[in-house]
Amino acid sequence: MGGERQVMMARRTRRRSIRLEAGSASHVGRIREVNQDYVASTDEVFVVADGMGGHRGGEVASAVATTEVIDGFTGPDRASLVRAVRQANRAVLERAAFDPDLAGMGTTLCALAVVDGSGGQGGPDALAVVNIGDSRVYRLDLDELVRVSDDHSLVADLVRAGELTSEEAAVHPQRNILTRALGIEVDPTIDSWEFPPACGDRFLLCSDGLFNELEDDRIAELLGDGPVQEVAGRLVSEAVAAGGHDNVTVLVVEVVEGPDRPLGGRPPIPEARLERSTGLVRSRRVDDDPRAILRTTIGSVAAVVATAILVLSLYARQGWFIGDDEGDVAVFRGRSGGILWFDPTFEEGGDLRLARLDDSTRAAIIETIPTGTLAEARLLIEGFRNNLRDTASSNG
Ligand code: MN
Repeated sequence: MGGERQVMMARRTRRRSIRLEAGSASHVGRIREVNQDYVASTDEVFVVADGMGGHRGGEVASAVATTEVIDGFTGPDRASLVRAVRQANRAVLERAAFDPDLAGMGTTLCALAVVDGSGGQGGPDALAVVNIGDSRVYRLDLDELVRVSDDHSLVADLVRAGELTSEEAAVHPQRNILTRALGIEVDPTIDSWEFPPACGDRFLLCSDGLFNELEDDRIAELLGDGPVQEVAGRLVSEAVAAGGHDNVTVLVVEVVEGPDRPLGGRPPIPEARLERSTGLVRSRRVDDDPRAILRTTIGSVAAVVATAILVLSLYARQGWFIGDDEGDVAVFRGRSGGILWFDPTFEEGGDLRLARLDDSTRAAIIETIPTGTLAEARLLIEGFRNNLRDTASSNG
């Protein structure tokens, strides 16, 4: 089941002391018209993504991100898995920057991979998990379902801050608002974990369409019962039968060869490592005002602008630019600063004051923002205007 939204590939890169087997299933559900989830795996890396964004944005974002991680992860260690996720983020941003239909698309992503333990120093094989967004990774410990990943959502922040119980969060009307995702900012914080595998371990990677429909106890029962592919199919069909309000996707992974389980139970899941490309982020920032996090991450035009600058300068399509025209946001034709005899010419503007914009957007405009076309410049300016409205309404 699931058809073209799931891809299984065989690719063996190096000899490992552990071997994993996986089964997956994906379903559009009973309400949505399009399946924006995506699942793919090789012998060594297993990925689930849940896309968002209008038109065809969501399905493109999840497919692009998943494919990037599958192709980009060449091992050997946890850091290379995190790098592959970063590359996936860039790929989503680049696609969005060049296609107005895809503007604003994003995706969650969680992945599990076999890696060299302890930073690739030739340590024993380990499992690495990465996560951004609110898809989840679970491990089945005996009959108990243990969450590996933390959700990056508004309600999860409120639960961690002690302002909401997990029962309240599970039915909260705003539970789909994410605080982190791929395709939103240039350098997102990515959570990762590393732990030793044991033969018989079962992991579940899934989109929120599963755990919003089924209780943990039921997921645990189904997860432990039968071969992985059958389990995947049953989890999905039961979630669809229970309501199917969203796309449902699961990837069940079992360690079929590896060290024996330690007697006396598994050690607990370690704390996540939170990092950006600029370094480790130590605190979880649960004390921050969640609305502030939302404003800086969701629909952050400044970040999109920064990426647009990066992408567009890479491709050197600098026929137009957005700049400052005596305090107004304006579009100019030509290159900022002019090239020899060719000075930029004012094209349009005068209906948006620079002073109304936030500091980083204003700074980017004063620096000038090159764009490939006039339409692209207009789109970005439209984005600044929408962001003003969003900020105003979320303050109100
Ligand atoms: Mn979903």
